[in-house]
Amino acid sequence: MKKDNAKKLTPEQQHVLLEKGTEAPFTGKWLYNKERGVYVCASCGAELFSSGTKFDSGSGWPSFFDANKKNIELKDDFSLGMHRKEVLCKKCGGHLGHLFDDGPTETGKRYCINSAALDFEKGLKDKKKKKN
Ligand code: FE
Repeated sequence: MKKDNAKKLTPEQQHVLLEKGTEAPFTGKWLYNKERGVYVCASCGAELFSSGTKFDSGSGWPSFFDANKKNIELKDDFSLGMHRKEVLCKKCGGHLGHLFDDGPTETGKRYCINSAALDFEKGLKDKKKKKN
């Protein structure tokens, strides 16, 4: 990750994104956000998750059943004596959270993401609009 990007991050954002930290559950600013919009990487601004895929998992972290897969990367994580899938921002390499296979929808996925790794941009882009 570029250092000039990291400068604008708060200490907690740096802990999560750069040091693969995890914010305490039920403390993140986006946990209960129900506005329509796009969740972007707090460090580089890459579009990561749509509000339409957010659900309340009860875990205490923002949870999504799908992701903008072109901007995320998955990595095996064997820390803490577990095998989990780490979710990273593909653009900047920042740590976002983990992916589990117990999601509530047909995707079967639960992206468990730290609020500190995300910024939120209100309003949905109309993806049905034809590009000229
Ligand atoms: Fe990023």
